[in-house]
Amino acid sequence: MQVARTIGEVRRFVAAGRRRAASVGLVPTMGALHAAHLNLVRACQRDENFTVVSIFVNPTQFGPNEDLARYPRDEAGDLEKCGQAGVDVVFLPSAAEMYPQPSETEIAVSALTRTLCGPHRPGHFEGVATVVAKLFNIVQPDRAYFGEKDFQQFRVLQRMAADLNFPVEVIGCPLVREPDGLAMSSRNAYLSTDERRQALGLIAALQHGRELITGGEQSPVVVEDAMLTVLRGNRIAEVDYASVVEPERLQPVERIAGRVLLAIAAQVGTTRLIDNLLVDPSGASG
Ligand code: AMP
Repeated sequence: MQVARTIGEVRRFVAAGRRRAASVGLVPTMGALHAAHLNLVRACQRDENFTVVSIFVNPTQFGPNEDLARYPRDEAGDLEKCGQAGVDVVFLPSAAEMYPQPSETEIAVSALTRTLCGPHRPGHFEGVATVVAKLFNIVQPDRAYFGEKDFQQFRVLQRMAADLNFPVEVIGCPLVREPDGLAMSSRNAYLSTDERRQALGLIAALQHGRELITGGEQSPVVVEDAMLTVLRGNRIAEVDYASVVEPERLQPVERIAGRVLLAIAAQVGTTRLIDNLLVDPSGASG
């Protein structure tokens, strides 16, 4: 496995890989790698002959009051996991390497970022879209792999790649959970034992919403209120949203008639968690 810390190095390593491999895949991450990240790596390795993992805690996607300074970092552990997984290249740039000067260019994806997390995290999706565009230009992969845990991020990046004609296919991979249902996240490391229990309220609320919908409930407002009640029952009071949206454009629906995305963002202690569930009213697994 090769480790690149500069843009020049990663370009050289990928160019050399391309001479022997038919295709190159990229898995962008912020590190503190867990089983869900490694699932993306495996999805990439199934499709591609050459797998690049980037690890970069991108400062421009964090708001001023967010957790950039305390975001978990584990470079040695991450490199070991990537090595064991058979990754070809890990790209580990510094902030100075990625942003030698403050970027004056920013990518904004409009309607898709006006719902769900968009209004609660001003500038976040612009930061994500811009850094992923930079990574696409640096690594020039054929495909890039993202988790549906961050469903809105996945849709935003799919749209960015299409709108800007990036020759990169954006692939979504299923959300991976802990055995008790909690969505895996590097941020779960912040949770105390009590908060870890409370955090199960998110999946409980989503599952309750799904039961209502598969039982015939068609009103998004009824489902959203019911999800909020479950969250409060789990002592989760600070909820950014508990929403029913259609799963392509992520806009609200007036009536639940087809597949919908149930999505929640809530604060558990000092940790902001997100989770979602795709639901088909016919009961077919989403
Ligand atoms: P992060 O390091 O949290 O920025 O995540 C890097 C990639 O891993 C993103 O595409 C995330 O959507 C994906 N990811 C993180 N957690 C999960 C999860 N529990 N299930 C599926 N994908 C995930």
